[in-house]
Amino acid sequence: MVNKVSIGIIGIQGAISEHVSSMNDTLESVNNPGKVIVIKDPLQIDKIDALIIPGGESTTISNILFQSGFYKPILKKINENNLPVMGTCAGCVILASVLIENLEEVKLLSAMDMKVKRNAFGGQKESFECNIRIHRFLKPYNAIFIRAPIIEEVWGDCKILAKIENNIVMARQDNFLALSFHPELTNDIRIQKYFLDMI
Ligand code: GLN
Repeated sequence: MVNKVSIGIIGIQGAISEHVSSMNDTLESVNNPGKVIVIKDPLQIDKIDALIIPGGESTTISNILFQSGFYKPILKKINENNLPVMGTCAGCVILASVLIENLEEVKLLSAMDMKVKRNAFGGQKESFECNIRIHRFLKPYNAIFIRAPIIEEVWGDCKILAKIENNIVMARQDNFLALSFHPELTNDIRIQKYFLDMI
């Protein structure tokens, strides 16, 4: 891990402050004097060592990112510096390369070899929490799903890290981590630590 990391959190929509505080807790827990930056300007992308795309509405977030000129610097930093990116919920949708529905509505970053279905468990009322088993985590993880997507299929170098029954809910490909749930809404920082180890 970099000695003093700068972690950027896309600051358009979603649980931004929760991501900031859980990443700050994580940095503190590993004694990393790094900082967490809320990203509101494409010029900030060059200054970060890792990026988090939070949940929210993938249509809104991706279109604002695209129209405000974020995609070019993000993709450049991915290609030239292997920028680690964690996408949670809507962020997971944006990292995918194939969508099952709403093909035109979401601007995909196409970073990961996975096919994603939005709102796959239903609407807001079908939001839920459950214990999942995550690859190499010793104890179960209580995951919070809010209008969550499902990763329907992975291929190439994309590896499944967690499933609920037959539904993939967490995957990793190289420096990219996609979760269909919200790690920032629990006090368990094991996923944030896992992401820090990818930097
Ligand atoms: N349903 C949302 C979408 O597809 C994601 C929901 C969330 O991020 N909590 O964009």
